[in-house]
Amino acid sequence: MKHQGDWFDVVVVGGGHAGIEAALAAARLGVSVALVTHRFDRIGVMSCNPAVGGLGKGHLVREIDALDGVIGRLADMAGIQYRVLNRRKGPAVRGPRVQCDRAVYADAAQRMIGDASGVTLIEGEVIDLDLRDRRVAGVHLADGARLPAPTVVLTTGTFLGGVIHRGEERVEAGRVGDGSSIRLAARLRDAAFAMGRLKTGTPPRLDTRTIDFADLDVQPGDEDPTMMSLCNHTPALPQRPCHITHTNVSTHAVIRDNIGRSAMYAGAISGQGPRYCPSIEDKVMRFADRESHQIFLEPEGLETPAVYPNGISTSLPVEVQEAYVRTIKGLEQAEILVPGYAIEYDYVDPRSLDRRLAHREIEGLFLAGQINGTTGYEEAAAQGLLAGANAALEVKGEDPFVVDRATGYLGVLVDDLTRHGVSEPYRMFTSRAEFRLRLRADNADQRLTPLGVSAGLVGSKRSEAFECKKEAIGAARTALESISLSPNEARACGIELNADGERRDGMTLLGLPDVSLINLAQINPMLGTLDRVVAETLEADALYRTYLERQDEDVARLQVEESQALPRDFDYASLSGLSNELRTKLTAQRPETIGQARHIEGMTPAALLLVLSATRRPKRRSA
Ligand code: FAD
Repeated sequence: MKHQGDWFDVVVVGGGHAGIEAALAAARLGVSVALVTHRFDRIGVMSCNPAVGGLGKGHLVREIDALDGVIGRLADMAGIQYRVLNRRKGPAVRGPRVQCDRAVYADAAQRMIGDASGVTLIEGEVIDLDLRDRRVAGVHLADGARLPAPTVVLTTGTFLGGVIHRGEERVEAGRVGDGSSIRLAARLRDAAFAMGRLKTGTPPRLDTRTIDFADLDVQPGDEDPTMMSLCNHTPALPQRPCHITHTNVSTHAVIRDNIGRSAMYAGAISGQGPRYCPSIEDKVMRFADRESHQIFLEPEGLETPAVYPNGISTSLPVEVQEAYVRTIKGLEQAEILVPGYAIEYDYVDPRSLDRRLAHREIEGLFLAGQINGTTGYEEAAAQGLLAGANAALEVKGEDPFVVDRATGYLGVLVDDLTRHGVSEPYRMFTSRAEFRLRLRADNADQRLTPLGVSAGLVGSKRSEAFECKKEAIGAARTALESISLSPNEARACGIELNADGERRDGMTLLGLPDVSLINLAQINPMLGTLDRVVAETLEADALYRTYLERQDEDVARLQVEESQALPRDFDYASLSGLSNELRTKLTAQRPETIGQARHIEGMTPAALLLVLSATRRPKRRSA
């Protein structure tokens, strides 16, 4: 494609999950966008497990969706197994997740970006930024072309200086089957970007035709699937079950005997990997007393024989992977289609960015996705949307689009990255959000769609659907608030209360355990006909009503107490409820104030509240 001389408002570098959202968000704001990526046919490729959502990540998907981003809709086009994780816990920490058909997902992404108006696709490699006096003026491509633009969004994922490791084997690559971005990485280092190295890994893909599923536990999807996008209601594709198997002492023996050949474990890789997602080598060596680890066998699609064995990512040589896989029940004859591997890559310290994900020192430059030290499609997509939107808003001379921590996981993500940086690949967890009772997956649109509409990020179709839902919630809430039942009247609706003679309104009753809208529909039949998503939001609001009031008080107290002194001699080692990692860091760093404790890497809001209340407790006097 000819592109020399073309001029764009925003150039997005990379066609991964961040790049797609960045390009589409900028285009929704009406600016001209070029998306430059190595290969068209690799746009939207899922480098690792083809699953979207989960704990914390599902919340991000719903927030992106609320702003008219596409990851949720793409996942629904490709969904072959839906499960809400943490279903038995409260609605705030439930995470919608879907296993996708890898090929369908990428194909849908390629069609969506190909059809988007205002986005020009350019196949090529960006090798340098065009920098003028610390201001970006475009990018240089490997074919010698220059693409001028006042803003650039870098979303290069695991490709910057990417090296794949498998046993003693090393290959320069951004992921298996792709080249690496060596020249751009070198140029960023030369330009004095603050950079570091991280690593991650992936398991071998197995051939379903060689797996004996007969004696394995089946894990079906949810009977009544919850879609990733609030625009969708039913799965687009036939659904498939997953299966569960386990490693055993023989598996662990093979791994232990060959541990010196693991690239990740034997020290061939300097970058830090994700501790919450350890390789099988790590699991076997670090938890030596455990005789077994669970593996989910997840299909990668409807028409591929590939199965993703979730739980055994590895960087051992191929022959060792084959040997340990075949010690596992059901996998005795399993053939490996693609061996597992580890990848090490450069990232840019996200503390160099502001809340728009713009570089603090290079005007017009935005960064999003794994390049900022995160891991996961959802985290990448979230940043892509924000960076793309802010690049477009900068071009238009309009106010930035920022989300604060109390309004969305998007805010938590950006705040954590830009304030604290990372020392391992960062992924979202619900525990990272101090306001998590209000930041639920079910109400993402209530929190964010109005902001997106004001910024111009949300199209008319979604904004009309949102208005309809808002009206339905408002009407149902009014109906609930107008219900007033005595304990006797409530009993007639199947609600058991203390006979205290007190009348309770519908929201209060709905917040009680075992009370649902079905009970209250006996008083007002309209409450039994509500759309499922409307009902979920009302039930969660009612359930958390008193907690939210208390949380507001906690938040206000936390703000005041930021400067509260912590006792120098406090025994963090004996504080139960803290992770070992935080106990060690608190003991070593001995923060002087709650504010300092808050800035310890890995500190969660829940842990901070624990420290706060433990250190405020009056010491018991000895008798
Ligand atoms: P990517 O999806 O990597 O996309 C980067 C894009 O940029 C590609 O299209 C590439 O072609 C393009 N590009 C790069 N450099 C240039 C250039 N110079 N010029 C033009 N185009 C360029 N996530 C998890 O949540 N859990 C996991 O367990 C997990 N394991 C992983 C294991 C492996 C081996 C890998 C590779 C990734 C894993 N991931 C995992 C991460 C997940 O794949 C990424 O977080 C996600 O894909 C990041 O999205 P992104 O858009 O930032 O980058």
